Amino acid sequence: MHVLITGGAGFIGSHLADHHLARGDQVYVVDNLSTGSLANVAAFRGHPGFRFAEADILHWNGLGEAVAWADRIYHMAAVVGVKKVLEDPVAVMSTNMTGTERVLRAIHHGGWNPQVIIASTSEVYGFNPQSSFAESDYIVLPSAGRLRWAYAVTKLADEFLAFSYARKYGLHIVVARLFNTIGPNQVGHYGMVVPRFVRQAVDGDPLTVYGEGTQTRSFCDVRDTVVALDQLAGCPEAWGEVVNVGNDQEISIRALAELIVQRARSTSPLHFVSYKDAYGEEFEDVTHRRPVLNKLRALTGFSPEWTLTRTLEDLIERERAKIRRVA
Ligand code: UDP
Repeated sequence: MHVLITGGAGFIGSHLADHHLARGDQVYVVDNLSTGSLANVAAFRGHPGFRFAEADILHWNGLGEAVAWADRIYHMAAVVGVKKVLEDPVAVMSTNMTGTERVLRAIHHGGWNPQVIIASTSEVYGFNPQSSFAESDYIVLPSAGRLRWAYAVTKLADEFLAFSYARKYGLHIVVARLFNTIGPNQVGHYGMVVPRFVRQAVDGDPLTVYGEGTQTRSFCDVRDTVVALDQLAGCPEAWGEVVNVGNDQEISIRALAELIVQRARSTSPLHFVSYKDAYGEEFEDVTHRRPVLNKLRALTGFSPEWTLTRTLEDLIERERAKIRRVA
């Protein structure tokens, strides 16, 4: 199979590349290296099935050719991370909407009907006060002044764009609403809690718990996520559907911090930081976020292999190995 991955040098994209190369597929990655990095794809360089283009999805001349080559497309290229969104909302709007429309238009003009995954996010549920979310639940988003939500709005626009193209041109598109994803190669610069806590615990630094740590998340190992995305793309019943992708084991951020300290046998204390100090005035955190996975399970039989504890132990060990290599 020929697999095109936009944003393929990013965290999830590079795991998709790994997954498909291991299966003997041809993989073409395009990435502008804004949040992705060459280090994430370094291991694939020289692999006969691997091709890489450093390009911005908004301007890439090779897009039409790459799309026409592909049997499957994972559109992962996006500006992600709350900090990035507040730093540069214009880049978020352009990349996440114009970029997606360019990809969809290229697919339509390619005259070929590849399997397509459009990556969306659990952020689209917005302010909905429920604690767990099914695909048919209401989306609650604020008016335009609150830029913290720009990311969610662009991803929701992507969902509507994808469905418009799918409906009008009969394209084989699945919208995957990704919940919190963790695993090797995820970086903490843009706020992601697990790499930050793992690093802090291994270094013996305080773990920076925002608020009181009562907010909850459900973390899915990226190695499970890529299996789910692969299965969804190849599942005709999933085409034209929006599907939650994640793990439904929920944990509070405080309990997560305690678990990481314990598994790392660290002496790090928990340090409670106010949201205002962490993110500035504009930020609003989501209090609970757990996916309802009935649809994903019905379509693919998905059952995650990685428990949270096992993933954390793996990440702690990798962080320690990194330090040993530097020393
Ligand atoms: N968080 C935290 N300390 C950190 C980074 C994040 O307590 O150093 C919290 C954050 O406020 C949020 C949760 O951890 O409630 C998950 O944050 P992340 O940015 O990983 O994902 P998202 O908020 O997008 O779910």
